[in-house]
Amino acid sequence: MDSKFLVSIVILPSLVDKDYRYIKDRLIYSEVDFELEFTDDPRKSNGEIVIFLSSVDLPERDWLINIVKPFFESDVGVVGSKIIDKNEKIIHAGIVFDKDSNPYFIYSGLDRNFYGTNKYRYFNCLYYEGLAIKRNILQDIGGFNVETDLSAEILKLCYLLNQKGIRLLYNPKAIIYREDREIKLEKNKMYYFPQDDILFYQQDTVQVDRSLIVRSYNINLPIKKCILCNNVNISFIESIGEYDIYKCSNCGLEFSNPMKAPNYNLLWEIAEDYRHRVDNWDNLYKIHKDPNYIEGYFSIPLEIIRFVSRMNENPNLLEIGFGEGLFLYDAYDLGFDVYGIEVSSIAVELAKKRILSGKFICSRSFEIPLDWPKEFDVIASFEVLEHLEDPIGFIDFIYSHLKPGGILILCLPNRNRIGAKHGNIGIMDNPPHHLTRWERRTLEYILDKYPWHFRRVTGTKPHFNIIFSSEGLSLPPNIILTIDNKNIELKSFDIIKLWRNFFDKLFSYLPRDYGRILQAFCQKAGKINFDLKEFLENINLE
Ligand SMILES: [Zn+2]
Repeated sequence: MDSKFLVSIVILPSLVDKDYRYIKDRLIYSEVDFELEFTDDPRKSNGEIVIFLSSVDLPERDWLINIVKPFFESDVGVVGSKIIDKNEKIIHAGIVFDKDSNPYFIYSGLDRNFYGTNKYRYFNCLYYEGLAIKRNILQDIGGFNVETDLSAEILKLCYLLNQKGIRLLYNPKAIIYREDREIKLEKNKMYYFPQDDILFYQQDTVQVDRSLIVRSYNINLPIKKCILCNNVNISFIESIGEYDIYKCSNCGLEFSNPMKAPNYNLLWEIAEDYRHRVDNWDNLYKIHKDPNYIEGYFSIPLEIIRFVSRMNENPNLLEIGFGEGLFLYDAYDLGFDVYGIEVSSIAVELAKKRILSGKFICSRSFEIPLDWPKEFDVIASFEVLEHLEDPIGFIDFIYSHLKPGGILILCLPNRNRIGAKHGNIGIMDNPPHHLTRWERRTLEYILDKYPWHFRRVTGTKPHFNIIFSSEGLSLPPNIILTIDNKNIELKSFDIIKLWRNFFDKLFSYLPRDYGRILQAFCQKAGKINFDLKEFLENINLE
């Protein structure tokens, strides 16, 4: 950069009448080797780059250098900032649109360091505060009118930029504080973006003329039969948001209308729960190996793959929806060639780092890459089926890729678990997060469409701790999981230990049909070199 290079800072009018001298001082003393001019009218600006700031903005120390830098390093025409509130929550980190052209401030209310907000990204639209634009581009599209509604003006500006094919770069390193704002997330609410935000975001389109757009998904088409068994005896249960939930009296399935899942890749980036899981892998793996974890959830799957690894030379295992990859790691540890399909690119990256010899793809659809084996000794999937738009396609896919005699391990939440049957189902089990709810007979119904050598569907053992797991996260009874900003901490909860023994006894009389998780263990028909049935009979289920 040469020192003759001029950057214009346009201070926009804001609701708070504030002297902006301190912004000016802050920027003048920034260590940059270009010149600055300040104005309140973009038409009077002379700089090659024009930057908008509001008088309530407090740029971080290196904001100026960061916002200008991309212009020298690429052919970018516009660069936007990350704007955070006094509690370090995101106010603006890019704008996306739904089909009605409603703008959404993506990531608003989430921590300043959420993955999605820490990447350089191209958006259709960025907010005007902290926006930098080349002056010739600004002139070319007719300027920026500061005397009008600035929100409408920025939409118009971005629309014109998109039409001209000019790229808008979101710069996570250009950070501005706004002390006058506080963004709050409602507690206990799942934050999803409407599916179509993602569509518009990914297609790099921006629409500002509402009359041109028809909202096609507004009305749910009435459902006449069960999506699983085609039976017409279905009844409407309730509406949750734009979803209606029905129950089939034949197979017992509860399903959503529409059967439309959110974008889980994005969810992985924004949902705190998923993020903390990535950051706390070692702790999670320890918990996962605890034989009491979720009533022994993983004990039998682990026993099965240990057995399979002894019975086969070079066994392979595919996990669909492997998440943090805890079970994949077990399989790898036992000598399996491991393969994984997962919707989250973050999870895929994590798995690649942890299991160098494994093969993983990020995909929403069921397909096996060409260079993978076509059939597997074991296919496992934990709590995935209930998220899917096409449950039958999923089981078809699994069955067709099992070797003859191969093993399916399939686990999902039980609709008849005590906590849900006699209490709150919990937001985690609602659409769009879960599109279907399954009881034992439902899972048996879908599995019985296929010729198995052996199949068993059972619930995990009903346990005391389910009382404390209304949100769906079940833990060993003497352990409480506290999730603070960065750490997952295990604490012993002595007071409930006494009660635990009492309730353990009480619940031990309940059948497994009321357990928290349904588990299916199946062996595909065909050439068998060991018998899963015999093996499971030797495992003490109680
Ligand atoms: Zn049905």
